[in-house]
Amino acid sequence: MDIGKLLQKNTEELFKEADSIRRDNVGDIIHIRALLEISNICYRNCDYCGLRSDNKILTRYKMSLQDIEKTAKLAYDTGYKTIVLQSGESNCYDIKEFADMVAKLNNYGLTVTLSFGELSYINLKLLKDAGAKRYLLKFETADSKLYANLHKGYTLEDRLDCLYAIKELGYETGSGFLVGLPQENEDTIINNLQLLQKLNCDMVGIGVFIPHKNTPLASLNSGRVDITKKCVAITRILLPKCNIPITTSLSEFGDKYQMFSGGANVIMQNITPKIFADNYQIYPKKIVNIDILKDRSKLEKDINLLGRRPI
Ligand code: SAH
Ligand code: SF4
Repeated sequence: MDIGKLLQKNTEELFKEADSIRRDNVGDIIHIRALLEISNICYRNCDYCGLRSDNKILTRYKMSLQDIEKTAKLAYDTGYKTIVLQSGESNCYDIKEFADMVAKLNNYGLTVTLSFGELSYINLKLLKDAGAKRYLLKFETADSKLYANLHKGYTLEDRLDCLYAIKELGYETGSGFLVGLPQENEDTIINNLQLLQKLNCDMVGIGVFIPHKNTPLASLNSGRVDITKKCVAITRILLPKCNIPITTSLSEFGDKYQMFSGGANVIMQNITPKIFADNYQIYPKKIVNIDILKDRSKLEKDINLLGRRPI
């Protein structure tokens, strides 16, 4: 498929095509995932991210395994079937104890999705064997030079090796990229979309870059929302059966449900207790008080009103 040509189409046309492919391939169900931001400790220093290790102003936290388990069980009892555990990249948990906690959540009936950055093969396997089903690791950009610039000391090659290990271990694999990184052009976007297709991702999250004041990219503008929306719709066309969430960064801009008519079929509901979420500022965002039960009921109601089926 000529991705360049798809990008030339107008948004309305792409949305229509993506919506029809979505309906034929994954139906009207909208999957609601609970997102728990378990720790903001990170040894990496990604130029775009507020959790980067050089951000010394940030108060770092780590939820205890007991608190993670308690919050996850509450989410399950409220109707969530999947929990996404996300954090900075660090070794702040004992991996064996962590795997035991994952096994408990799995036995409880939750589908556990992990997003902790690049882990070693051994640790990925340990967590998979404990029952984790899915792993999210965005490649962020398919341009290896830009990747190396934004992630000093790291390579796109290593990121992709990690993604292939995740796939080989049998995880449902999620990846994606950011729209609006510096020095990006149309070719970068085409290559990003091509890489998603090559990886044959099970899940794809496409975020909009939002500048954070304590990062080297503080003075840039946010990424273009219109291009991000087109990328989401094109992803549905390229990977008809994949799960596509409305990324939280995209929902910061205007109508957060709009992408449900342009290919998306998943939404993440943040369930991180406010005391922690206040310090999980990857990009600047308003943190509201969470109420796991009320938030889920509202989401279900909204989705039903859209004529879709929340699960
Ligand atoms: N540490 C893990 C997971 C947490 S970060 C990892 O990096 O994979 C999750 C995602 O936040 C990243 O994949 C990145 O795409 C996104 N992100 C980071 N900084 C951002 C910013 N300034 N604007 C929008 N998204 C951002
Ligand atoms: Fe750490 Fe992930 Fe942020 Fe990079 S994007 S600094 S790995 S939390």
